[in-house]
Amino acid sequence: MPTYVRQRLVLTFVRTRGCECGRLRCESAGKPLGLHVCHCRECQKQSASAFGMSLPMPCSGSSLTAGEPRA
Ligand SMILES: [Zn+2]
Repeated sequence: MPTYVRQRLVLTFVRTRGCECGRLRCESAGKPLGLHVCHCRECQKQSASAFGMSLPMPCSGSSLTAGEPRA
């Protein structure tokens, strides 16, 4: 009789993102903290659509890959 081993597959997604002007780039790994959808005028302008979406990520597991933030 065959024996089946059930394995739990854990996937880690790496997301890259940047600031609005594109000077800063960073990447984050791990599970997002949530998903925010906003219909304010500023988010509509930034996304050129009816709403903007944000995916907040935990600070741990995030690293800056390009640019230098100003204090
Ligand atoms: Zn907004």
